[in-house]
Amino acid sequence: MVILGIESTAHTASVGLVSERAEVLGLASDMYRPTKGGIHPREAANHHVEQFPALVRRAMDAAHLQPSDVEAIAFSQGPGLGPCLRAGATVARMLSLAWGRPLVPVNHCVAHIEIARVLSGMEDPLLLYASGGNTQVIAYGRGRYRVLGETLDIGIGNFLDKLWIELGGTFPGGPALEAEAKRGSELLVLPYSVHGMDVTFSGILTAALALHARGVPLADLAYSVEVTTYSMLTEITERALAHRRRDTVVLGGGVACNERLRTMVRTMVEARGGTMFAPPRSLCVDNGAMIAWTGYLALRAGVTIPVEESVIEPRQRTDLVLAPWRTG
Ligand code: AMP
Ligand code: MG
Repeated sequence: MVILGIESTAHTASVGLVSERAEVLGLASDMYRPTKGGIHPREAANHHVEQFPALVRRAMDAAHLQPSDVEAIAFSQGPGLGPCLRAGATVARMLSLAWGRPLVPVNHCVAHIEIARVLSGMEDPLLLYASGGNTQVIAYGRGRYRVLGETLDIGIGNFLDKLWIELGGTFPGGPALEAEAKRGSELLVLPYSVHGMDVTFSGILTAALALHARGVPLADLAYSVEVTTYSMLTEITERALAHRRRDTVVLGGGVACNERLRTMVRTMVEARGGTMFAPPRSLCVDNGAMIAWTGYLALRAGVTIPVEESVIEPRQRTDLVLAPWRTG
């Protein structure tokens, strides 16, 4: 059985083809990169509309598949930017109607944990989901995935991007800041903003820009921003592990590509006698394969949506959707 997955929650348009054994048979992605400032939702959506026909073709060609080989079409229903989600949902509906295959709605955050869960072979891990728009610690409990802790303002990735753009750089800021941070050594004092299981970043942004205005070396600033914010994420992940009596953690989201974050979380988990797993970078960032795989799990549990009811849900929270494939 092969499922086609469509991802378009933010800057990345992606099409993935995945088998019932979680083999990624084809994956084609293209990221919208603004030349100036952050993501403009309508421009990103226009990018997706232009790219999708070629992405579907590329993924199908890479997998050597015909439309008749595809069992169902899964799509990211939310959360995300409305115009971007709408572009992907429209493509999914068209393929569903043209190929006569069922449509399966998928929650984007749940997809990050499901792809990491199957790749890791871990039964019931905690997910630290660190992406552009989202920062959450998620665990399964009684029928659905629950958010144990999260950002109370902006996502960690948006914070890194905003900071880098304010410093004169271009989107995406995370990888550029990582390169700078590798050259830094002095830990500058920044607000450490953990509130129980939750975190905030906007105060750190203000403080970091104030330090920059005072002329601190950029490398030290980047190093301090990484150490401070990734310590916060590591702390709330550890607290969630302790409360939930878990010993496995998986990472997801674009910021989970970061070497320092991976090392810090791994060190914490292993010190507790547990194990950490981070998917390969192509499956950590937004991608159609995770949507296809979660679509497969959902389809197997009987989840489909009629085309006429397949509205997008820009604010769909992780804990709002059921995960019937976990209950058995
Ligand atoms: P996503 O929203 O999951 O596709 O992830 C995109 C976000 O990940 C952007 O905010 C990027 O700046 C961030 N990002 C990507 N690579 C890295 C990295 N190596 N270190 C930190 N952040 C990163
Ligand atoms: Mg994501």
